[in-house]
Amino acid sequence: MSGERTVTWRLLNLELGLDEPESVLRGRACRELGLEPDQLRGFRFARKTLDARRRGGGRAPRFVVHADLMLDEGREPERLTRALRSGRVIPAPLPGSLEADVLHPSLAGPGRRAVVVGCGPAGVFSALPLALAGIRVTLIERGSSLERRSRELVRFHRTRVPDPESNLLFGEGGAGTYSDGKLATRVDDALEVPILEELVAAGASDTILYESGAHIGTDRLHDLLPRLRARLEACGVEFSFNTRFEGLDLEESDAGRRVRAVATSAGELPCDLAVLATGHSARDSWARMVEQGLPVEAKPFQLGVRVEHPQELIDEGLHGRDEALRRLGAASYRLVCKPGEGLPGAHSFCMCPGGRIVASVNEPGLLCTNGMSNSTHSSVWANAAIVTTFGPREFGAGALAGVEFQRRLEERFFAEGGADYTAPAQRVPDFLDGRASTKELRSSYPFGVRPGRLDELLAGPVRRTLARALSRFDRRLAGFAGPQGLLVGLESRSSGPVRVRRERGAALVQGFDNLLCVGEGAGFAGGIMSAALDGARSALSLIRQGVRG
Ligand SMILES: Cc1cc2nc3c(=O)[nH]c(=O)nc-3n(C[C@H](O)[C@H](O)[C@H](O)COP(=O)(O)OP(=O)(O)OC[C@H]3O[C@@H](n4cnc5c(N)ncnc54)[C@H](O)[C@@H]3O)c2cc1C
Repeated sequence: MSGERTVTWRLLNLELGLDEPESVLRGRACRELGLEPDQLRGFRFARKTLDARRRGGGRAPRFVVHADLMLDEGREPERLTRALRSGRVIPAPLPGSLEADVLHPSLAGPGRRAVVVGCGPAGVFSALPLALAGIRVTLIERGSSLERRSRELVRFHRTRVPDPESNLLFGEGGAGTYSDGKLATRVDDALEVPILEELVAAGASDTILYESGAHIGTDRLHDLLPRLRARLEACGVEFSFNTRFEGLDLEESDAGRRVRAVATSAGELPCDLAVLATGHSARDSWARMVEQGLPVEAKPFQLGVRVEHPQELIDEGLHGRDEALRRLGAASYRLVCKPGEGLPGAHSFCMCPGGRIVASVNEPGLLCTNGMSNSTHSSVWANAAIVTTFGPREFGAGALAGVEFQRRLEERFFAEGGADYTAPAQRVPDFLDGRASTKELRSSYPFGVRPGRLDELLAGPVRRTLARALSRFDRRLAGFAGPQGLLVGLESRSSGPVRVRRERGAALVQGFDNLLCVGEGAGFAGGIMSAALDGARSALSLIRQGVRG
């Protein structure tokens, strides 16, 4: 009955056959809970996961779906009440909002100004709530707007000379602009839905709202980013590309140190609030933060190599001859090797089915790899990082010791590849046996690969950890450590080596009155969604508390 209050219940673990249309689930949910279809005021998927595990009895792979059902309050049938008691149904968590419900009086006045540095997910999703709260936001980005950035990247691939300001890591959209666009978060956060809804409104498929392991793909990301920018501009955010953050103009106040203005390559920008969202590769920005006395400390980061196989080998290993699974498209894996035999654990990360390896480079003379793919996952190659955690105990003391360690290793990989962005590569069996690969090596990596001693370039414990993991992964996925597996290096920036300390229980940088450091560069995120969430959460928490004025 319209006008009544509705309540949303989440029905867990509905099963859907791989060949069944999603539309059957509405009726299935109603039958299970004893509802007439016209009692439903709304129905949507909350989560859809592929369960491809084959258990005893030869159970077929299927999707497992959590669905949200909206009903008039107080009209729940007996069967639903019973399902609630058994735990099969739970109250659906309330989605959050990017708009602040409470605006601190110190922010309510006109002319409040924030400067956000970095146009990656953390910068964009901290700028949006600030703008929605009526604060005038200038978003500065050292790299170029998307269109120009893509032309600059084409030039890099042609000339092999990277532009240190605008490249695969720097520019509109941030480091994930040329990626698989995977949106995994692994945390349940009320802000996840509103962020995903912004991406859907900008053109992403609405399946990202519920598919676990959803990905957008580079091609679709490139359609989406200009629309996301237009959305922010409509809320009043001013974008300033090709503008570099160079430091903070600071003053002392009773409440701590206070940012008066942000110094940029285009002059000073006075502000009431500064947000640094500079990502995992702005090494000059970290150095400046340390110089200016920000509480920066070293943290462990992921270190390893990229592994590449023909996608067919991965499909065969994971889906075998199951036609229904094969129809789902390029198979992807997530492999974990627990610690043991005196060695730390290792895992696969950022797997790109039907993708390619990219040179994740922003500085001349350094080599680092990563992976990307388009929405169709249509290349014949599958790649992923195989990484282990490497901490201050291994690379030494000092806030930027991890950064220096990364740099030295990236220099060695660059030299081993021939100092022109060709990447050193080694077949997995050769890596395990400690010898150079001899036969012709093939890879999706655009600058080409040549035989190199990855086993010698990596320190002993890292090499042994990766070798152990590769052998174990071969037991899970036949051929993983066979001659068709190629290691390409180096993978050194899967996560940042630095953390900026925050006030206990608050988002503000420790000792500062009006400064936020968010996302991967602050050490509080490791992917697109986690960076976006950290940016949005930090901005909202500050808006609600108010910037001290
Ligand atoms: C090739 C590749 C593929 C990836 N694939 C995935 C994936 O599929 N899924 C996933 O979850 N994650 C992926 N990642 C990781 C993901 O991109 C990052 O975790 C995420 O972008 C971090 O967001 P961020 O906003 O914190 O930083 P970033 O996205 O790095 O954004 C920081 C921005 O700040 C700008 N900046 C830096 N210094 C300055 C300065 N001094 N002045 C002005 N601007 C500055 C940079 O130019 C950059 O645009 C991938 C990364 C790469 C490189």
